[in-house]
Amino acid sequence: MDKTVYEARKCTCSEQAQLLPIERKLERYNSVICYECDSCAKKVEITPLGSIGVLITVGTFAIGIIAYLQLSGVGQPDFIDYMIVLFCIICIAGVTVPQLLKHNRYPLMPSKDAIELPPEENSSRHILAKPISFIEGFGFLLGLIAPIIFIACFLGLAALIGYINFTYFQ
Ligand SMILES: [Zn+2]
Repeated sequence: MDKTVYEARKCTCSEQAQLLPIERKLERYNSVICYECDSCAKKVEITPLGSIGVLITVGTFAIGIIAYLQLSGVGQPDFIDYMIVLFCIICIAGVTVPQLLKHNRYPLMPSKDAIELPPEENSSRHILAKPISFIEGFGFLLGLIAPIIFIACFLGLAALIGYINFTYFQ
């Protein structure tokens, strides 16, 4: 599912102006596609929807765990406990919402020919290069449910190993 071909996006400066993909950069947990407008020369960085979806789901799980630890302890949770959970929610939303808004602000121009980008230069040294490319082949919804499928498979496998162990090796 490696994706190296990207369509142009619509710039906000005029109706005809298009943001052309110029570079794909690998960051720690995802890549960003850099676009440059052929009219106003504005540069825009877009995070693939699949990556945003994964981040939202993983972030929600993390917040759930933090909330559980903070709010289910001994005694009544206090103001600080709620603040920590709220802070985590704001952090995840602060990262993902602007990324999503950019997709809305600079929509794809499907009629234009897609442009193939060369692989990013640090991809051979990046330990997550393969999974990152794989996730980016997903759309937003698949990105959202991919971590749940992964966890379900992991738990299913653990249960299966437990079952085989219990049934045949007792
Ligand atoms: Zn422009």
